[in-house]
Amino acid sequence: MINTKVSLRYLCMMFESTSDRLTGAARISKGRRTRRCFYVTIGAMMAKAQQRAELLEGRPVADAIKKEVAAEVSRLREQHGVVTRLAAVLVGDDAASAVYVRNKVRACAEVGIESDKIDLSASTTTEELLAVVRRLNADDNVDGILVQLPLPKQIDDSVIIEAIDPAKDVDAFHPTNVGYLAMGRPRFVPCTPAGIIELLDRNQIEIAGANACVVGRSQIVGRPIASLLLQRHATVTICHSKTRDLPAVTREADILIAAIGRPAFIRGNFIKPGATVIDVGVNQVTRVEGAREFFGFDADKRIEAIEKRGYTLVGDVHPAEADLIAGRRTPVPGGVGLLTVAMLMKNSLQAAKWRRGL
Ligand code: NDP
Repeated sequence: MINTKVSLRYLCMMFESTSDRLTGAARISKGRRTRRCFYVTIGAMMAKAQQRAELLEGRPVADAIKKEVAAEVSRLREQHGVVTRLAAVLVGDDAASAVYVRNKVRACAEVGIESDKIDLSASTTTEELLAVVRRLNADDNVDGILVQLPLPKQIDDSVIIEAIDPAKDVDAFHPTNVGYLAMGRPRFVPCTPAGIIELLDRNQIEIAGANACVVGRSQIVGRPIASLLLQRHATVTICHSKTRDLPAVTREADILIAAIGRPAFIRGNFIKPGATVIDVGVNQVTRVEGAREFFGFDADKRIEAIEKRGYTLVGDVHPAEADLIAGRRTPVPGGVGLLTVAMLMKNSLQAAKWRRGL
């Protein structure tokens, strides 16, 4: 039922995009010839409806980056006696944050980076967290400092971000690193945007000259990815909640980046046929009907996940519809998130080298 709905929606969209062709055909043809032409066109569209966007998997690219980092971490240790070390601070008991920090600590172990995980209670004050950050700044054995966001609401996160030594700021949220990036002279680059560029580059997706559209203007994703794309000579449009006629703007994009935080918000009619769609969003779907609508042919696995653990994940892009229109898209999970962690490893390595002038 849902599959039929998706196919019909796709056909309607195809009709819109091919309406000129059809109108032209109808004008020059009459009777049976028109009907035959119509059925041939429908047949071609049905065949195309079976096609799916190529999946830009994060795993192979993340693995390649981690392999390169591991080799360099080991070279630093052997040739310079440098032990690369990341300190990860987790405040409170947010379940998603705990998973993110656990994955980052696990990745450190994979690439040979030492890690210290510092757990602080949910009632930690700004002053208490500041004291921890200052201690890590002063510790010469620590190369990178990561304070997992979001922080409990009693903590002023900008005070904490600005207290981190910019030379150890592996998340690249400190105003000094944000400023360097905005000037086109990046030092540390935030991990998710840096990972997206790696994903595009290592899949030979041309950035220079492309129309790139970023939906979302956060400090963490939207703004820095727009800066990076601009530096790589894309023509960049940044959209947000006040953008007028969003689908008309996003439909111009050869590279569409969705960093919104709204489940399956980017529908098929937002996407230019053949575009590369990078889905940054991570949203939980807890309803079986939601899974059926978003995942189309792939819904069964997702419904199973909901039944087993209470949720499945969807990005900001409607996967079933994007599959029918986009040329390539990143999956959620298994796309951008894996690159975020890999780039944190790369930034930690850079921190160890830059601090020592290596
Ligand atoms: P924020 O909430 O900070 O920003 C969301 C942005 O989306 C804002 O700029 C907002 O516009 C815009 N927006 C919201 N609603 C609309 C709308 N209806 N139309 C157009 N724009 C809209 O989110 P983040 O950038 O921090 O994160 C975005 C998503 O990416 C989240 O799902 C998050 O979980 C995920 N994420 C994933 C990571 C990964 O590694 N995979 C890493 C970081 C984030 P405005 O500014 O006008 O309010």
